[in-house]
Amino acid sequence: MQRIWIPLPHPSTPPPPSPKTQNRAPLPALSIFCISLRRPLSFAATAARIAASAPSKAGEGRRRSAASRWANLTADDNLIAPLTNLLAIGSAVEIPLPSPLEMDATALAASLVPSWSAVVVLFSYLGYLATAGAVLPGKLVPGAVLPDSSRLHYRCNGLVSLLLLLVLSALGVYMGWMSPTVIADRGIELLSATFIFSVIVTFLLYYSGLRSHHKSSSLKPHVSGNFIQDWWLGVQLNPHFMGVDLKFFFVRAGMMAWLFINLSLFAKSYLAGSANLSVILYQFFCAWYIVDYFVHEELMTSTWDIIAERLGFMLVFGDLVFIPFTFTIQGWWLLRNNVELSLLAATVNCFIFVIGYLVFRGANKQKHVFKKSPKALIWGKTPKLVGGKLLVSGYWGIARHCNYLGDILLALSFSLPCGTSSVIPYFYPTYLFILLIWRERRDEARCSEKYKEIWVEYCKLVPWRIFPYVY
Ligand code: NDP
Repeated sequence: MQRIWIPLPHPSTPPPPSPKTQNRAPLPALSIFCISLRRPLSFAATAARIAASAPSKAGEGRRRSAASRWANLTADDNLIAPLTNLLAIGSAVEIPLPSPLEMDATALAASLVPSWSAVVVLFSYLGYLATAGAVLPGKLVPGAVLPDSSRLHYRCNGLVSLLLLLVLSALGVYMGWMSPTVIADRGIELLSATFIFSVIVTFLLYYSGLRSHHKSSSLKPHVSGNFIQDWWLGVQLNPHFMGVDLKFFFVRAGMMAWLFINLSLFAKSYLAGSANLSVILYQFFCAWYIVDYFVHEELMTSTWDIIAERLGFMLVFGDLVFIPFTFTIQGWWLLRNNVELSLLAATVNCFIFVIGYLVFRGANKQKHVFKKSPKALIWGKTPKLVGGKLLVSGYWGIARHCNYLGDILLALSFSLPCGTSSVIPYFYPTYLFILLIWRERRDEARCSEKYKEIWVEYCKLVPWRIFPYVY
């Protein structure tokens, strides 16, 4: 593989500055946060930066790389990184990513304008997904019954689409047709292209929704008359375009893009020689979560988003922009910050990931199986029910939303590889924590209205909402 990733910098020499990285900043989404959060460079860091940017001779690469790393560590809040670590990683190669502090407003504004190549990457990706979704084999899963007694069917071929895209991408890289870092290199251009695309799509959804005369639950227009509200929340429940269920399609696109951005970031770290344990753990945890999502894609067909939310800017932006570009913040951050995890920290991190995964997947699966066949055994026993409708066994007997607890633990495990020197990599667990607390409240209100005294009985039997003995 290394053969085609040319030009490959030698581990002990600094990488040649490319015109692209010199003139145009491949600035990741994370940089927006960094600009406001980073503190000014210290004198030492500035001195180290000057040393790092001085013309180097053969044999000076190692020292220059260490100096450069020191400058970056200091600039990126890793002020307490031990000197021994710096010496130990002195042979690593620095990626010549420009610091946001070095960008003026003009450069930042320029990078916000999507380039044609970013548009091509975006449309190739969406075009591939639409084609693969239509032609590849997959289980046809019936969705929830809608108010008019109709139900949609979803072809769950996300996993095979993902695997084929991975194979095609690997082939493209091997043949030298594309760079493995193409996504990471065009981070902010892709972000702005996707954002503009989301806005355009949601205007089209809004106007086509208004013109819809369908009476079916899926396509019936829900118009409040308030433009912002209708555009934001959407007008139709399950709009289609050329036979593609757009809501299901956008979730798939967002989840897969999360993985591909991460893989591109990993390629960048690998080429820079900085793919250490923390990078590998972060990448592995996220990859597991995303691939697992596609293995269990049919469970998505009964989630709140698919059965209850209309398709407006909130969902389209959430799927296409928010998931791929903010859930990867840790990966962008690790590109410029070296974290040396101790064995104990790595073990605790793995433990939290495993527990989170078991609870998250176990709880969601138990509910899914229960809804399909209410008598199926749970943890080897006949399930206990309230009013014949609500499960009180397994995870659903420990807390009323154990699946949220598992998801929060997983999110935490994605950030722990970044250490504790900065709050930036903790964006995802913080966001998820707030989202799920709010969601649990909304779901509680919905269930209370739907199940009435059965729900009251369930709450007595299972008093904990998400965190047993805490909340
Ligand atoms: P749930 O899968 O928890 O579904 C809630 C519904 O399940 C309730 O409305 C009720 O619906 C049913 N239910 C509740 N309690 C019981 C019970 N004891 N027995 C049987 N049925 C019950 O909600 P979500 O769709 O919100 O979440 C699905 C997953 O997606 C979660 O794991 C969550 O963490 C994850 N998620 C992740 C996000 C992210 O950004 N990473 C965002 C949102 C969710 P009914 O009327 O059918 O009985």
